[in-house]
Amino acid sequence: MLPIKIDYKRCNGCGICERNCPGDLIYMDQVTKMPFVKYPEECWLCGACRIDCPKECIQIIFPLISL
Ligand code: SF4
Ligand code: SF4
Repeated sequence: MLPIKIDYKRCNGCGICERNCPGDLIYMDQVTKMPFVKYPEECWLCGACRIDCPKECIQIIFPLISL
């Protein structure tokens, strides 16, 4: 499962999430001009992309952990 979910109906393609991800995991698709997580397995759910998104269209998907 992808660690973050982007609502493309709200996203304006500003690229802030791409610039601000501390792990450099988000890239802008050259064709659609929309962001995507290129290395989802490396995301550590820091939430920076969600907090910085001006359109509030990024959702963090926390994995369920069974104890
Ligand atoms: S949650 Fe953090 S590490 Fe994961 S994509 Fe967003 S900014 Fe990058
Ligand atoms: S910061 Fe938000 S509005 Fe801007 S490109 Fe990323 S997801 Fe889209």
